[in-house]
Amino acid sequence: MEMLIAGNWRGAADGRTEEVRSPYDGRTIDTVPVATVQDAQAALDRAEIGAHLQRTTPAHVRVDILLRAAALADERAEDIAQTISAESGKPITEARGEASRSGNIIRLAAYEGSQLYGSTLPLDANAGTGLDKIGFTLRQPVGIVVAITPFNYPALLVLHKIAPALAAGNAVVLKPARATPLTALKLAQCFVDAGLPPDALSVITGPGSSLGDVLVTDPRVRKVSFTGSTSIGTRISSIAGVKKLSLELGASCPVIILPDADLELASTAVAAGGYVNAGQVCISVQRVIVDRRVEKDFLDALVPKVEAIAVGNPKEEDTRLGSLISEEEASRVHTSILEARHSGARVLTGGDRDGAVVTPAVVAGVDPRSPLSRNELFGPAVAVSSAPDMESAIAMANDNEYGLGAGIFTSDVAGAVQAMRQIDAGNIHINWSPLWRADLMPYGGLKGSGIGKEGVRSAVQEMTEEKTVVLHGRPW
Ligand code: NAP
Repeated sequence: MEMLIAGNWRGAADGRTEEVRSPYDGRTIDTVPVATVQDAQAALDRAEIGAHLQRTTPAHVRVDILLRAAALADERAEDIAQTISAESGKPITEARGEASRSGNIIRLAAYEGSQLYGSTLPLDANAGTGLDKIGFTLRQPVGIVVAITPFNYPALLVLHKIAPALAAGNAVVLKPARATPLTALKLAQCFVDAGLPPDALSVITGPGSSLGDVLVTDPRVRKVSFTGSTSIGTRISSIAGVKKLSLELGASCPVIILPDADLELASTAVAAGGYVNAGQVCISVQRVIVDRRVEKDFLDALVPKVEAIAVGNPKEEDTRLGSLISEEEASRVHTSILEARHSGARVLTGGDRDGAVVTPAVVAGVDPRSPLSRNELFGPAVAVSSAPDMESAIAMANDNEYGLGAGIFTSDVAGAVQAMRQIDAGNIHINWSPLWRADLMPYGGLKGSGIGKEGVRSAVQEMTEEKTVVLHGRPW
């Protein structure tokens, strides 16, 4: 496929292309241009025009365009799902689930773009100010949004940026992950075919390492919305300059299991939440902290459920766990599991590697200070540690540089209330794992997991700016 620069499907300025390959079997799926720095600058130049056009377009016109794009995303959901599965190695059933949310995210964003309310200010409550003035706020689009996305949800994470950005009246330059550019291009096609003004959207393909700095440092860009690793997010925050930043970064999400938990429910949730998308989810269950009084019963319930996860070719309907995004990533995950075993942890099931596939693993007796527990794994393994009581479990959950999601299993409301107050995570689930998201809910991390919130209403807020206006009358 070609990349999209302001309505034109075209190649890179120097004509270079690269192959997009299946991580599962290495077959070539398609080729895409390797954008140059000049291409990125061309996209930004056109975005300047697009931002002006979008800002002067009434919201109801933008809503109509987005609703048409949503209908096209619905119609094309099967093709989008096949593309997601092929380029990411995700099982086709999971890819269908992801693709089927596309239209709804665009529709939710379209609605939020029609809700840019301001407020009136009670200026006369300020001592020294009378009734002769009226103050109010106006919301307007930020202008140009640069969106940079990771490989693990090639449709959802793209749409959580471009749909609210366009709905709010901005122009967008998107740089999707190099491993998964095709899904982003197919989604962009929906907006183009829906009649989006050409200058409002560009999608440039190629390496973030050479394109990222140009995009994030350009002073014409008012907002950078980044989802990816904490290391690159940190780099962006140090060079971006004066602009709004949303950084959705890494994680090592805990689940706490208290002695009064429903262990069947908890083990079912962990067996899903630790292994969806081969564990390559920022809100994946990575650390289970189980009260030691129920540790054995919990593991007895968990292991058979994990062993039942069907590993195989992502194209097949029965497959529940496909490949990781690359053989290098699979090798890194495999090594982490082996290192945990060498340090005394017990691998109760899984953890073997074949190419880019790692079988789903349960690792018990993990030292909570060890790398398998502390660092982001982004692979299909869950590290189980035990705690003597609730206070220690919460302290262990918080003893981590990240704070994206957390889950707690208990049948006691008081324990749940204490946990939701004390756990430092942006999303907390009571009686489910952190791997759960509704596209309209505020979503984002604390601590090293980032700043800012996504979820369409929050994203529209963050992609608009507020102006305060005061009308000065005369005292009467
Ligand atoms: P990544 O390596 O950080 O890449 C993310 C994006 O940044 C890609 O498009 C990448 O381009 C680009 N990039 C690379 N170098 C850059 C630079 N110097 N400047 C600007 N952009 C640059 O992350 P990933 O491996 O794709 O994704 C996994 C990570 O994403 C995990 O840490 C995961 O936790 C995180 N994540 C977080 C959330 C959340 O909501 N908090 C959601 C999903 C994923 P290339 O692909 O061309 O390198």
